[in-house]
Amino acid sequence: MTATLLDGKTSARAWRAATAARVERLRMKKIVPGLAVVLVGHDPASEIYVRNKARQAEKVGIVSTVRRLAESATQAEVLATVAKLNQDQEIDGILVQLPLPPHLNEAEILLAVDPAKDVDGFHPYNLGQLWSGRPNLVPATAAGIMKLLADHQLSVAGKNAVVLGRSLIVGRPVAGLLLAADATVTIAHSHTANVQTLCAQADLLIAAVGQADFVTADFVKPGAIVIDVGTNRVAGHLVGDVAPAVATRAGYLTPVPGGVGPMTIAALLSQTVDLAEGRVYHG
Ligand code: NAP
Repeated sequence: MTATLLDGKTSARAWRAATAARVERLRMKKIVPGLAVVLVGHDPASEIYVRNKARQAEKVGIVSTVRRLAESATQAEVLATVAKLNQDQEIDGILVQLPLPPHLNEAEILLAVDPAKDVDGFHPYNLGQLWSGRPNLVPATAAGIMKLLADHQLSVAGKNAVVLGRSLIVGRPVAGLLLAADATVTIAHSHTANVQTLCAQADLLIAAVGQADFVTADFVKPGAIVIDVGTNRVAGHLVGDVAPAVATRAGYLTPVPGGVGPMTIAALLSQTVDLAEGRVYHG
């Protein structure tokens, strides 16, 4: 058996085109969606992510602004920046690029973002909505995974789903969305016993561990859907958490690169436009 590849590039392209069409309709009503990114310091990976987000946002017609603060910025300075963006009528979505420098209190800063502009879905209000079964603004990677599954007509209802990883960015929100979509969900983490046996029972396996080749073929039930979220650099190449041999056992598999990655930014853009559309209805 060779797994059907779930092509995120094609799905993301179509999603971005749909988002661009929505932006066009908003612009006809004189509404220009605005996305603001708060970037503290000069983490090289964050610089790349922020540049990519800004470029892709502009391609679909969203105006994107980056608020840069020095590595040495104080908690009060970051909070003041967020507060200003909360008040800014031109800004629909605010995201604080993580990780923040270690001297900053990340939880307090995420809490300061207006939940109605929390396009990354990290505010406890939006996380609460998600775990109450009413997802609205959700972390982009999780939203992107659900869209990729839907685009391939892969229903999760009633499926036994195992999520490897419990981060705020990926594991927890994707588990919440799967539960809201009626999957039976198990979340595994570094303290979980018998991870391989657990995974081998999954109809849907989401790997978000951040270790190359963590998921080997013996972790996978024949025919299962395997979503590889991992992005690991090995000898200059980008590889996922799933070993190549899994392709001979899974029914469906996301490639790395070209699977979940492109869907993440497409999800962010779509959610920014959701918020801008809210301006039409809420004035
Ligand atoms: P993270 O915060 O480091 O979380 C990793 C998770 O894996 C933790 O919950 C950890 O458990 C768990 N884990 C570690 N060892 C394990 C084991 N032996 N068995 C089961 N679980 C184990 O990473 P993240 O931010 O979620 O990201 C995960 C991966 O996805 C990374 O490679 C990252 O680069 C990638 N990523 C990709 C995208 C994309 O758009 N493609 C977006 C975001 C992240 P504990 O909680 O117990 O430590």
